[in-house]
Amino acid sequence: MALKKAPENTPVWVDTKKCKACDVCVSVCPAGVLSMHYDKTSTLGAMVHVDYPDSCIGCSDCELHCPDFAIYVADKSEFKFAKLSDEAKNRQAQIKANHYMKLN
Ligand code: SF4
Ligand code: SF4
Repeated sequence: MALKKAPENTPVWVDTKKCKACDVCVSVCPAGVLSMHYDKTSTLGAMVHVDYPDSCIGCSDCELHCPDFAIYVADKSEFKFAKLSDEAKNRQAQIKANHYMKLN
């Protein structure tokens, strides 16, 4: 069932029933908000997680690039997003270098 309404106080969220674990949203996020976690119950053995919601800048790149319409971003009128910080940019670079998997 699609999520039509944003969970309260949540900048970005995933419908794990639709997600095929393709990494695309993680790769386009500029702020290191998302990463893939190992998940034995998922077909591809991983699932996307929102690890750093406080860093989300609300750019919607994840939602716009998801081929399966499985990730959603809150409306700017309903959520106060962060500004892009150096810490967030550095974290994204580390996630990319780690093949989009969760950092230890
Ligand atoms: S882009 Fe969509 S399908 Fe791919 S990992 Fe992200 S939420 Fe899942
Ligand atoms: S809206 Fe932008 S910053 Fe937030 S998770 Fe999606 S791609 Fe990352």
